[in-house]
Amino acid sequence: MTGQAAADLRDLYQDVILDHGKRPRNFGTLAAASHRAAGDNPLCGDRLTLALEVAGGRVADAAFEGAGCAISVASASLMTDRIKGMGVAEAEELFHRFHRLLTGEGAAAAGDLEALGKLAVFSGVREYPIRVKCATLPWHTLMAALAGEGAEAPPEVSTE
Ligand code: ZN
Repeated sequence: MTGQAAADLRDLYQDVILDHGKRPRNFGTLAAASHRAAGDNPLCGDRLTLALEVAGGRVADAAFEGAGCAISVASASLMTDRIKGMGVAEAEELFHRFHRLLTGEGAAAAGDLEALGKLAVFSGVREYPIRVKCATLPWHTLMAALAGEGAEAPPEVSTE
């Protein structure tokens, strides 16, 4: 890839993150939520509450509330868009793919980039460890919500 192509790609990625950061999708609450969790990234001040409606082993609906930097909000926006309609096991697998992409921990598995699709825009934050926590916060919160038993007393999760 030429330097110019890489720069163009980086601009495109930034556009997607800025767009979702400014106009987050799925922002709000879910009346029919079956799973909830709260996530907190004290390093940056990002906080979010994720609500899921899980039925028949699938994520029927997803929404989030909270406040944080553009990267954390964009990540929550893109994540909720992506997991809606997805099987729970598939969503958990996507967490691992996303985590591998951003942390570089563990060998990339076949199909990671294809499965992540637009979520690959966050690969650029890998160079900034403090930003990795912003981008992965919604995903850690997703795993906490899926592991939870119900909508009461949401567990506090930390990416520490
Ligand atoms: Zn942040």
